[in-house]
Amino acid sequence: MLKGKNAVVTGSTSGIGLAIARGLAAQGVNITLNGFGDAAAIEKERAGIESAFGVKAVYSAADLTKGSECAALIKFGEEQLGSVDILVNNAGVQHVSPIEDFPDDKWDLIIALNLSAAFHAIKAAVPGMKARKWGRIINTASAHALVASPFKSAYVSAKHGIAGLTKTVALETATFGITCNAICPGYVWTPLVEKQIPDTAKARGITEDEVKDFLLAEQPTKQFVTVEQVAALAVFLSQETSASITGALHQIDGGWVAQ
Ligand code: NAD
Repeated sequence: MLKGKNAVVTGSTSGIGLAIARGLAAQGVNITLNGFGDAAAIEKERAGIESAFGVKAVYSAADLTKGSECAALIKFGEEQLGSVDILVNNAGVQHVSPIEDFPDDKWDLIIALNLSAAFHAIKAAVPGMKARKWGRIINTASAHALVASPFKSAYVSAKHGIAGLTKTVALETATFGITCNAICPGYVWTPLVEKQIPDTAKARGITEDEVKDFLLAEQPTKQFVTVEQVAALAVFLSQETSASITGALHQIDGGWVAQ
């Protein structure tokens, strides 16, 4: 049913974004990939998506910490594929530190990428969606859009901001066939989580080996959420039958925020 739609998935060279891009492509959606990484590995993923799913896949290296590059990414998707029908704002980074030591540049980076980038991309994509009277905006938020953890001041602030942005955009677009939702995963084993192990160990005074159990202590299932499970939720929200689901924060966290 999504065959022939066109999507931009930010931060899709790795982890959750890549799984969402592949999940949408499996439904016949053409994909604009975005994110950083090794050029040959990214080209392999792009070509792999085209050959596995018979869709068109293009790639932009836009740095989404810059508002102008967010807008340019949407324009690129529109020019390359014809439209941006589905926008997944997924790119994000983490930094773990007590607030008194939290580097100012890390705060600025996380607010720019994890929050402001979604604003700039949505602002650029909505006019086309409104004109076509169809759109799906999906923001990868986090359990940290609903609850906090210590030592993640910038991340928790940005993700709570994404929750507000999601609801606001949903209200503004509700009569245009556009939905705007947030996905709120608990811990998913990706490079983003792997990279925070040393700083989490330091901030909490535990060993790196203990961090995995420490993270899973939050999650009643005692399992990491998988990237495929998050992708399946994004695909579900993109479908025609999800037209009445908007302005909602969808937990996929093994029960974390139910506690
Ligand atoms: P990841 O590190 O695997 O992927 C992050 C992606 O963002 C990569 O493609 C990277 O190249 C891209 N990126 C980084 N800086 C960028 C920039 N300046 N411009 C454009 N792209 C940039 O991490 P992930 O775990 O897959 O995270 C994806 C999203 O999911 C993030 O928003 C994250 O906050 C959210 N999330 C992750 C978890 C988790 O446990 N992994 C839980 C909840 C929410």
